[in-house]
Amino acid sequence: MLPNYRRCISCRKVASKEAFWRIVRVYPSGQLQLDLGMGRSAYLCPEQECLKAAQKKNRLGKALRARVPQEIYQTLWERLGAVSPGSATRTQETPPAGPGDLSPKQPDCR
Ligand SMILES: [Zn+2]
Repeated sequence: MLPNYRRCISCRKVASKEAFWRIVRVYPSGQLQLDLGMGRSAYLCPEQECLKAAQKKNRLGKALRARVPQEIYQTLWERLGAVSPGSATRTQETPPAGPGDLSPKQPDCR
């Protein structure tokens, strides 16, 4: 394996580390965070399937030997532009801007 190559914790695909999300258990606080920090790291493809598997099978938690807070998954789902499975509400309709809210301006001259 080339030095800058990493393996996805879900599908085990190998690619350069820039291709993955990095989840770090920061030393010494033990906090999990994304992208930055020194400590034990896990890598994950920015893909729904890999994220789903990492969450469902606790691959992330096992790889990092830490409890993964829900916010971490939440952030990753948001990065994918997807709603986390279970709360799939994708009805966002913005009503067209009608002419009703255009109040006429009072001229301020005397
Ligand atoms: Zn993967």
